[in-house]
Amino acid sequence: LHDRDGKIWMDGELVDWRDAKIHVLTHTLHYGCGAFEGVRAYDTVNGTAIFRLQEHTQRLFNSAKILRMKIPFSQEQVNQAQREVVKANNLKSAYLRPLIWIGSEKLGVSPKGNQVHLMVAAWSWGAYLGEDGMKRGIRVKTSSYTRHHVNITMTQAKTVSNYTNSILANMEATDEGYDEALLLDASGFVSEGAGENLFVIKGGVVYTPDLSAGALNGITRNTIFSICQDLGLKLVEKRITRDEVYICDEAFFTGTAAEVTPIRELDRVEIGSGSRGPITEKIQAAFFDIVNGRNPKYAEWLTSV
Ligand code: PMP
Repeated sequence: LHDRDGKIWMDGELVDWRDAKIHVLTHTLHYGCGAFEGVRAYDTVNGTAIFRLQEHTQRLFNSAKILRMKIPFSQEQVNQAQREVVKANNLKSAYLRPLIWIGSEKLGVSPKGNQVHLMVAAWSWGAYLGEDGMKRGIRVKTSSYTRHHVNITMTQAKTVSNYTNSILANMEATDEGYDEALLLDASGFVSEGAGENLFVIKGGVVYTPDLSAGALNGITRNTIFSICQDLGLKLVEKRITRDEVYICDEAFFTGTAAEVTPIRELDRVEIGSGSRGPITEKIQAAFFDIVNGRNPKYAEWLTSV
């Protein structure tokens, strides 16, 4: 990923991809206090546009606030940086990665006295859990690792360090031949995937864990709320147990990278018919209509680059 042509926006300027480097004594590299976003730009019917750019930037600033980091740019500058990066790399569609980190002026747990940095990179990235998974559904394993408790590293911040837990869970699941992990909270209730929010459907009603289970307040999750309303589907946020997932009719993961990915199996227990369910298919189609600019109702969610 590092040895290629292209441009990365770093602290206010576009630098060559190969020169976008940091020092080994970077505070965040040692102690993991940093935050990032995952954003997608789509090749829409009206040209390349970034989906829900303002909401992603707002979440990055919220993460920074939670971590007591002061981003030395305005939200408008960060929005502009993301548009510039897509353009500078001639991308029609892209995955964008804004990241904030603490600099290398000094080490020690206290980050005081260090500068806060910001970069934005963008590259082409297809279906996160595979094209086949989007159609047939993926196989998921309940993780032996517990998702973060809400009073440990802060679960509404998309922090760098939270992903050690995601990595452990994902590696465990994929080493055992599954596609992705599902994590439970410290009380045993369903929280989220390693990089996705979870939805289940039972009796025509759509359910998702409420955020007290430590799940990230996903922007795709929020998009699904609007889609459910448009489709006349009742949406309920509540505590969900692992066995409720086993006996639901349909299940799917959501995320900027994962988009809407059906789940066909949890812990070798087949969910519903064992393939993409009919309501999931409708929600998925509505999602792709919105992100590709085919639903004028949501035109304001697409920012042209
Ligand atoms: N949970 C986790 C742990 C994630 O990494 C992501 C991806 N950012 C999500 C949920 C989904 O969030 P979003 O829809 O905003 O991408």
